[in-house]
Formats: sequence, C-alpha cells, structure tokens
Amino acid sequence: MLVVMNTDAAQADISAVIERAESLGLTTHLVRGAERTAIGLTGDLQPVMQDHFIQLAGVQDVVPISKPYKLASREFHPQDTVFDLGGVGVGGDEILIIAGPCSVESRTQLLETAEAVREAGAHALRGGAFKPRTSPYSFQGMGEEGLQILAEARERTGMPVVTEVMEPDKVPLITRYADVLQIGARNMQNFPLLHAVGECQFPVLLKRGISATVDELLMAAEYLLSHGNRRVIVCERGIRSYETSTRNTTDINAIPVMRGRTHLPIFLDPSHATGHWEYVVPIARAAVAAGADGLIVEVHPRPAEALSDGGQSLKPERFAELVRQVRAIAEAVGRRVPEIG
Ligand code: PEP
Ligand code: MN
Repeated sequence: MLVVMNTDAAQADISAVIERAESLGLTTHLVRGAERTAIGLTGDLQPVMQDHFIQLAGVQDVVPISKPYKLASREFHPQDTVFDLGGVGVGGDEILIIAGPCSVESRTQLLETAEAVREAGAHALRGGAFKPRTSPYSFQGMGEEGLQILAEARERTGMPVVTEVMEPDKVPLITRYADVLQIGARNMQNFPLLHAVGECQFPVLLKRGISATVDELLMAAEYLLSHGNRRVIVCERGIRSYETSTRNTTDINAIPVMRGRTHLPIFLDPSHATGHWEYVVPIARAAVAAGADGLIVEVHPRPAEALSDGGQSLKPERFAELVRQVRAIAEAVGRRVPEIG
C-alpha cells in the first residue's frame, strides 16, 4: 500500500502518517520524489484499510499495490531508480558497462585485463574470486587473494569492482574489497544470502536464476530492498530452454517486461546468456536496443587459457568493438555510453 501525499504536505503530516502506520504494526518506507512524497507500507496489510490513512491531513491518495513485490514495483516507485557507480548514473540516461574475466586467475592476468577493458571504455571491473562451478573438480576461484588483486586493480584503474558472494558469512570479507556484490544465478533464491547482502547496504547486481520467472527475480530483489538497500540492479543472464545451440536462451523480452514492472536498473549479461563469444556482441547490441541500463561482459586476454568460461570470453579488441557498437545503439535510443575521463 502506498500513501501518496499532497505536493504541499507538511513534514508534520508525513510524520502523522508514519505514526499511524507504526501503530498498526506496519513498516514504512519513505519515497521522496521530485514533486511529492509517498510512504510505502509493508507488513500485514490484511486488516489495514484505506480509511486508516485517507482522512489524515496532507494525504492525497492511498493506492493498493497489486504485485506481490512492493518496494521493487513501479507502482510503489514510479520514477526509475538512479544511483551513482564510479561516476556513472546507473538507471538514468547513461549505460554502464562492466567487464573483466569470469575468474581472477592471477595478478598479471587480472591487471592486464583491467587495463585493457578500461582502455576500451569499460566503467567497472568484474572478476570472480569465489566461483559457483557446476563441477567440484573445476577451478573454484582464488578466494581472498583474488579479492586483494581486484582491489589493486581498482587502485590502478579507478574502476569500481564487482564480484560474486556465495554465502552470508563471506559478506564482511567481500565488502572489505568490493564496490558491488554480485548474487549469481544459482543463488538468486538463497534467502539467507539475500538477507545478509540486503543488510550490508552495498550496491548489488542480482542475476536471474536459470529457471526463475521475472516475478521471482523481482521477489528476490524485494528481499534486498526490504532491508532498506535501495541500490539493486536486476540482471537478465539467459534462462534454460529446450534450445541447445547456446548455453542459455537470452530472454530479451524480460527487459521491457521488467521496465514496466520495476523501477530498478536492468542489466544484461550477454556472455552467460549465450555461452559463445561470437554471439556476445550482437546480443549486447540487442540488449541496449531493448532498453537495458547496462551490460556485464566477460573479457580475457587469452580466452583459450581461461580457467573458466573461456569460450564465451571476448578478447580485449573485440570488447573495444562491442563498446563502439553499443555506443552507437545507445545514441539511437536516446541513451549514452559515457566516455571515461
Ligand atoms: C559469472 O558471472 O561468472 C556467473 C557465474 O554468472 P551466473 O551466476 O549468471 O551464472
Ligand atoms: Mn562466468
């Protein structure tokens, strides 16, 4: 439920709404828009009626939120959420490009890749230090040493670092080094992890589960938002289908569908969505044409030697081409890929 205030509502009116909500056992979420303030109410809304609020001074309207996710819904927050990441406004007119290897494999590999993607126009650096691998015999990541290398790359290039967290207990460690926490597809519904990451208040890149619906992804985002964490990006990364030509099937529809349902920034990962480097650039173009707010792309200087996901990793030159092409598409749809200073 959303209590929408008049444009000229006084602070005392807003406080009175909050007090009434709290007396009914509800949690309040203040949304200050450019023109008016609204107060979102969550909790047990069954016994709560519009009449509890509509009579209060300064209240313009009381709107029920029809979706099961509340804080993530566009009904709750009609304007797009925009927040800064490394000087780029995520979710606004600007398109943010995150690039880097699937895994941090060594100091030289990561630093070389970081310099190359920065040079090619990336705004943020990705790299996994704790890897969710299908096989227990595959490379599992460098752990804390990998995080230290990522932090060194940030020092050298100025790019914020995005890295995956797989378990709640690792949140304090990873937040010592990272700027954005990635929740991977396999953990989209790891509820203890969602609580822990929501609580830490760091920006989050939340990836869609391999067989999750759009609404399940938005419900997972709701967990993060319910802790007061507002900086959440939802990321389409392909879903499992009967098609075997590609690793996953890019659900390009999900971009405009989510645009209608949520105010959160929407990204696409063309690397995991396709699983083949040849398809990464076309699907990156398609994502931006469809309205994505950003991309996360795997890049490796020598994909044939990569310890994970080499087959879907771009060489730096091809990534530079991706940035050029995506920039042209962005301009065609009224967006912008900022040049880094
Ligand atoms: C990754 O980003 O390397 C990764 C494992 O992604 P996903 O969780 O989408 O499979
Ligand atoms: Mn990967």
